[in-house]
Amino acid sequence: MRAVRRFTVRPSLPEPLTGLTALATNLRWTWHPPTRDLFASMDDELFRRIRDPLRMLTAVSATRLAELAADEAFLARANEVTENLREYLTEPRWYQERSAEVGGLPAAVAYFCMEFGVHEALPNYSGGLGVLAGDHLKAASDLGVPLIGVGPLYRAGYFRQSLSLDGWQVEHYPVIDPSGLPLQLLTEPSGVPVGVGVAMPGGRELRAQIWQASVGRIPLLLLDTDIEENDEDLRGVTDRLYGGDADHRIRQEILAGIGGMRAVRRYCELTGHPQPEVFHTNEGHAGFLGLERARELMDASGLEFDDVFPAVRAGTVFTTHTPVPAGIDRFPVDLVQHYFGDGRLLPKLDLRRVLALGAEDNPGLFNMAHMGLRLAQRANGVSALHGRVSRRMFGGLWPGFDDDEVPISAVTNGVHGPTWVAREMTELLDGDYDRLGRDGGLSLRDKVTDEQLWALRRDLRQKLVAEVRRRVRASWLQRGASPLELGWVDSVFDPDVLTVGFARRVPTYKRLTLMLRDPERLRALLLDEQRPVQLVVAGKSHPADEGGKALIQQIVRFVDDPAVRRRIVFLPDYDMSMARYLYRGCDVWLNNPTRPLEACGTSGMKSALNGGLNLSIKDGWWDECYDGSNGWAIPTADGITDPLRRDDLEAAALYDLLAQQVVPLFYDRGESGVPQGWLSRVWHTLDTLGPRVQASRMVREYVDTCYGPAAETVTAAVADGFAGSRSLAQYQQKMALSWRSVRLFDSELVVEPPDALVVGHEIRVRARIDLAGLEPSDVEVQAVVGRVGDTDDLQDPVSVKMEPTGIGEFTAALELPQAGSLGYTVRILPKHPLLATHAELGKVILA
Ligand SMILES: *Cc1c(COP(=O)(O)O)cnc(C)c1O
Repeated sequence: MRAVRRFTVRPSLPEPLTGLTALATNLRWTWHPPTRDLFASMDDELFRRIRDPLRMLTAVSATRLAELAADEAFLARANEVTENLREYLTEPRWYQERSAEVGGLPAAVAYFCMEFGVHEALPNYSGGLGVLAGDHLKAASDLGVPLIGVGPLYRAGYFRQSLSLDGWQVEHYPVIDPSGLPLQLLTEPSGVPVGVGVAMPGGRELRAQIWQASVGRIPLLLLDTDIEENDEDLRGVTDRLYGGDADHRIRQEILAGIGGMRAVRRYCELTGHPQPEVFHTNEGHAGFLGLERARELMDASGLEFDDVFPAVRAGTVFTTHTPVPAGIDRFPVDLVQHYFGDGRLLPKLDLRRVLALGAEDNPGLFNMAHMGLRLAQRANGVSALHGRVSRRMFGGLWPGFDDDEVPISAVTNGVHGPTWVAREMTELLDGDYDRLGRDGGLSLRDKVTDEQLWALRRDLRQKLVAEVRRRVRASWLQRGASPLELGWVDSVFDPDVLTVGFARRVPTYKRLTLMLRDPERLRALLLDEQRPVQLVVAGKSHPADEGGKALIQQIVRFVDDPAVRRRIVFLPDYDMSMARYLYRGCDVWLNNPTRPLEACGTSGMKSALNGGLNLSIKDGWWDECYDGSNGWAIPTADGITDPLRRDDLEAAALYDLLAQQVVPLFYDRGESGVPQGWLSRVWHTLDTLGPRVQASRMVREYVDTCYGPAAETVTAAVADGFAGSRSLAQYQQKMALSWRSVRLFDSELVVEPPDALVVGHEIRVRARIDLAGLEPSDVEVQAVVGRVGDTDDLQDPVSVKMEPTGIGEFTAALELPQAGSLGYTVRILPKHPLLATHAELGKVILA
């Protein structure tokens, strides 16, 4: 019989144990071992199976609960952990100190994302983006940053993956019951659930209730439309992550952006949490939040859209996560019109303004990344290389500017150390990488011997081997094998063999099957008698991506071969619970995307924190972090346009590196049996990458370079009845009228004496300009000097501000910066105190 409906009954705990509920519902337990120990001590065996404190409370028998309620030692430990959590939640942390030091930091920041991966106990993520968002919240919590996370709660989350007998990906969508998850339904003081609504075409409304997860200090608000008030089709809006057609997606995104904003507002009103001043759009999907913010400000002030628009921009931060044009979220313009056109969703917001924000080259499409960039004064990519690629990719939005001046910066992603570092590692290194990084100087090597570290690495590898065997067996049973045929599984993998990991989603650019380019070479590496390699592979393909599934099948067919199956495995259902074992246990973390299509990549960072060495194409984070001795860079055949030839070249380079460098170094043992050369790379990785790849570093960077400056600009924009915002709006109107008439007549280089073109000598640049009615203070006139090569393009240009020196005349004095062929030009740029960069308005007049 099937149930028609599911529900979860909360346990009734004996009085002395009631405090455990608070410990189990705050997800800080996911990165706080003493809390996990406490729950494990209720029933060790049970905890190992379910690994979720909240479910423990329902699963532990009443007899055992009664026993624990009378166990003084247990109650004392519970008290201690509860007290520790209370302190963690209330004591001042880095942000409070920073705030006192620099001032102007926002009272709160709202962080919008379509997925959040905090732990497998809350399966509301698909992969990298979600896990990054989860790590962002956790690091923000540790640092005391007053963040509120917002996104949808999916009834089926992302799919679970298994394999058919012939290696084809099979998807299933287990339905979750939010009342059984570490979530609390947000309620009004009257006890009824808080509801938010967004208008839908045809006079309908989409309603959502709000579940709150507590990620340490950070509330994470998750919107759920599966409620009776909704029409049947609308109940399904939050059915699953990245499923459905464009119509389904736009409804999800309207809910996430506009509904999400309303949820944050109501949450703050109810709880007294400070209202956010800064809004972080983590990837384009939630971008409609900026429109809702405009509506709010128009309502509150009675001003027009143009007058509040600068204030909206000032308070919005946008992070782009993909350099793959196909990865950008676009909707048919008709669809946007359908939802926004009747004026009920966002009253007073003119449809044409909305459409203009998402305009792109193709007039039939609405581009969420373009809207994100137009609605946010501060935007960034997620690694230095990705910043450069994004500046080029989106440069068309700032015509007339060189790529380097496009206002998209970079904040390199990081990972939450306490979540990803093996506990054994933390204990051995007594480590808080964060502190080590900041105090500087102290090397972990001074505290721990090579032998200790090597023993630890073996222990982690051994644990991975056990997990691999467990999963290989389960997968074969699921594919229809009989236990009798699976004796060989006990000899899959070996705890003393060099272990390489490759696990990621399976879009084409990640090249899951590059390693199979020359199957014979791979086989030779795996089966080498003296110095074998073992390889663990995992990854999910998007359900609609048949090509990706074919790649998985190719891998599975290779690993199914009895000749190699002890040395290479494909583990189905890559998720956080599996990832943990891989990052900890692998000696080498392999990544071979097509450069530069990997925006950042974070799995390699998690491996590095556990003493794994990266073997990777120099893409994403590795492009800036590889230093020659912390792993290996697979050479790239940049510029080769034939993808097959490029794959051949890069695969050959990968095999060569493995065979000639990685394998020999791993098996080169001194007398003590310890591979010293290998370990010196591991030490170097821990010392140098340890502090750098942390999410705490990333969040501090966001605070210092995005949230803080955004809060300051927003304050300036809204003060005195939006005086700043209105002044910028008026300035833009004035510009719209005059800019086209501004003329740069001519310019000259004044060198005295005439033969004094010598390095360090001061020269002057003079230009004659007609400002067409603008004031000199409305513009910045710059002389730009740089090297010139075969073309007249200025290299490494230096700009010097020119001052008005007469009617229609501007002059600058500058020192000749270097010898060789130089060139100069003059340009006129907009200037207003609320602009963050000169390029912001995309306007420039060049000589
Ligand atoms: C870290 C992580 C990712 C992201 O890894 P990439 O290197 O960006 O591919 C994906 N899935 C899980 C479960 C992760 O923990």
